[in-house]
Amino acid sequence: MDHLNPTQRKTLQRLLHERDEAARAEIRAKAAERAEAPYAELAGGVTDEADEAAADLIVDVDNAMIGMDLAEVREITAALERMKNHSYGLCAGCGEPIAYARLHAYPVATRCTRCQSVHERTFASGPHSTL
Ligand SMILES: [Zn+2]
Repeated sequence: MDHLNPTQRKTLQRLLHERDEAARAEIRAKAAERAEAPYAELAGGVTDEADEAAADLIVDVDNAMIGMDLAEVREITAALERMKNHSYGLCAGCGEPIAYARLHAYPVATRCTRCQSVHERTFASGPHSTL
């Protein structure tokens, strides 16, 4: 981890812990909301199909958002683990140090900007046209 000075390392560690706490707090808040508004209540306790569909959608969106928070917690845990074993901040693609500015903006980054864009081009999926 020679490419990061102690101050930079400390700053990134703090950022990771802050993000970790924020993501965990969000998961807790959403789980609490869920407990207060179970599916039957979201659906209004009636069998109207439109209400049911709306309740389904709310549950789906909730699950997706909790899934994103959980994924973030996992990424942060992995980043803190890399800090411990001194592989943090090294690109998983080329092995070169990742720029501090990039780590500061995105502390869980595992690739340098160059490798990340290659990775995204290679594994791009979704609304990118190939025409
Ligand atoms: Zn790289």
